[in-house]
Amino acid sequence: MDRRWGICNQLYFVAVLSFMLMTFCGCGTGKAVNRVLFNMDTVMDISVYGKETDLDEAEKMISDLDLRLSVTNRQSEIYRINHHEEVLVSDETKEIIEKACELSRVTNGAMDISIYPIVNAWGFTGDEKRVPDEEKINELLAYVNYEKVEDSMDDLNGNFLLPDGVEIDLGCIAKGYTGDKVIELLKSNGVEHAIISLGGNIHTLGKRVDEKPWRVAIVDPDDTKTYIGTVDVSDKVVITSGAYQRFFEEDGVIYHHIIDPSTGYPANSGLKSVTLIGESGTVCDALSTAFYVMGLDKLTEWWSENGDAYCVDAIIVDDRGTVYVTEGIKDDFTLMGDHSIEVINK
Ligand code: AMP
Ligand code: MG
Repeated sequence: MDRRWGICNQLYFVAVLSFMLMTFCGCGTGKAVNRVLFNMDTVMDISVYGKETDLDEAEKMISDLDLRLSVTNRQSEIYRINHHEEVLVSDETKEIIEKACELSRVTNGAMDISIYPIVNAWGFTGDEKRVPDEEKINELLAYVNYEKVEDSMDDLNGNFLLPDGVEIDLGCIAKGYTGDKVIELLKSNGVEHAIISLGGNIHTLGKRVDEKPWRVAIVDPDDTKTYIGTVDVSDKVVITSGAYQRFFEEDGVIYHHIIDPSTGYPANSGLKSVTLIGESGTVCDALSTAFYVMGLDKLTEWWSENGDAYCVDAIIVDDRGTVYVTEGIKDDFTLMGDHSIEVINK
């Protein structure tokens, strides 16, 4: 049996580069400070034009959120909810569950907050990855339905109790939500320039100190040491979902971590990566996963109808290496390498 396991923290260098730019282009109040940390099972890189205490507060906020949202930490609210304890959830946990349910609904379950039984059966949150029996997958699919999560919140007293078998996975949204909260915190501390990378999910605050936009590179899913292009953003997030980020190989077949909730198997939608660009990390993180599951035709239709309401654009790489860019971001995107590019218009 040939078995391989991979995690790729793409775009990590971007924050470092931007940090140097902040250092050398310094003006205004504060100075460029940077911290690299490991949390939520990933490398995080926070670069702020501010104070060391801003980094301390950001780091604490990330640890606190991880303690609430982790599926593996026995003390976390999500762990206790998944073990069918009746939990009085914190405001943050309630907020993210509600948002995840809304996004599950509007994507018709392409992204589904209740996918955890399937993700767990594949072993994606533990050390032992494996291909589950088809019978097992079909049995567990009966529990995948975000409506059962929506119905579990007791609005009167804020208690939360899931039905037997139903379990929550916030893996497709938690880092985006956390990034939003960190940016809010930095803003409230008076920070005007920051770029943070939470495992390759990039959140930007303002512009660089030289008033130019941040330039974020997007990994080539076929060669993760290179890039398909760069996108210029300010006050926006750039969040990517891709099969290359977390996968294992068994008997010559690659199995990745983005599950199609309609089959229980890794999504086989003809795409290699989907990058969302928008104002909300929570929204973009959830939608990057949902778009990956939908595939090009369905995501194009979804984006044409809902892209404005959710303030998102997308950069997609398909199986043939063609890059698709939605019209709202095309002028800010610079293609690299010899990929062909097509613009998705409404
Ligand atoms: P992302 O990297 O943001 O696309 O999120 C992928 C993670 O979200 C996986 O590691 C799973 O924990 C979880 N996940 C996988 N497929 C889905 C899905 N269809 N809906 C919701 N969460 C998912
Ligand atoms: Mg996501």
